Amino acid sequence: METLYIVIPCYNEEEMLPLTARALIEKMDTLIKAGRIAPDSKVMFVDDGSKDKTWELIERLHSSIPMFTGLKLSRNRGHQNALLAGLMTAKESSDIIVSMDADLQDDINAIDGFLDKRAEGCDIVYGVRSSRKKDTAFKRGTARAYYKLLARMGVEITYDHADYRLMSRRAVEALEEFTEVNLFLRGMVPMLGFKSDTVEYVRNERQAGESKYPLKKMISFAVEGITSLSVKPIRFITTLGLLVFLVSIFMLIYFFVIWCMGKTVAGWTTTVVSVWALGGLQLLAIGVIGEYIGKIYLETKRRPSFLIEKNLEDEKNTSAKDSAERKGE
Ligand code: UDP
Ligand code: MG
Repeated sequence: METLYIVIPCYNEEEMLPLTARALIEKMDTLIKAGRIAPDSKVMFVDDGSKDKTWELIERLHSSIPMFTGLKLSRNRGHQNALLAGLMTAKESSDIIVSMDADLQDDINAIDGFLDKRAEGCDIVYGVRSSRKKDTAFKRGTARAYYKLLARMGVEITYDHADYRLMSRRAVEALEEFTEVNLFLRGMVPMLGFKSDTVEYVRNERQAGESKYPLKKMISFAVEGITSLSVKPIRFITTLGLLVFLVSIFMLIYFFVIWCMGKTVAGWTTTVVSVWALGGLQLLAIGVIGEYIGKIYLETKRRPSFLIEKNLEDEKNTSAKDSAERKGE
């Protein structure tokens, strides 16, 4: 029987945590009773530098129910980094890890399906939303378009899969080898290879609190996804630049011919238009290249993706060690 850890990044989730904890403890109990996971399986909440009572709640849960454990990041680092921190910590004491959001939007009963696939020998199981009826039309539309764009850019990604997935310890260890700072986990996991499969589930509404992904964060996450996994935008700009250059040569020839024929053109409009068009194109090109250079700059620094301030697991281990040492005296 394998030890399962459920890793949940939480940012200002005080409204959601009690509900999530209640639902999960029931689920875990059922799974343990059914002999599907080991009794030392746990739920690990990762507090991503919340400003509300999230960490207090996690500590309280931990002290009353040992199945809950927690990790506190030193500051808000965003969902992806929090998730990575959780995965890397959880792998130390588990065989399989399921990552999910704190808001119960992902159906926790899909975990049964995850475990079935795991029993069939999968190292990675992706949760895929079979329907997004509960999402707003805007979120659904932009998400669809975005997944298509990613596929065009040559990024291997599972359609309609967010970060609800099961990974074996082996897969998480492989992920650890990826030392990049710019994280887009759902695009990185497929690069690991290993036997994988998908499980469909119906996505629910967020049960309490509000989305921690405002439009601004969503857009920067989307840009991150493309620029951290694909160099096609740069190539596209090179092609565009080449095309514009060719057109300008034709224009030069054309105007030269007209000039030879003595028809001088009062080309004020064309001049102004082309100055603006070219200026715009150049700025766009510089912007895209700058985006990548920025990425290189950050990657060369090799800053840690997260810093852990507190790990409730450690406290448990050290206190166990302390008492063992005391006993040994
Ligand atoms: N989250 C996080 N750090 C952040 C933003 C979000 O850990 O800076 C967590 C959040 O608590 C939740 C998950 O990421 O568990 C997904 O966020 P949310 O449900 O708000 O996103 P949405 O479902 O609206 O895309
Ligand atoms: Mg959500």
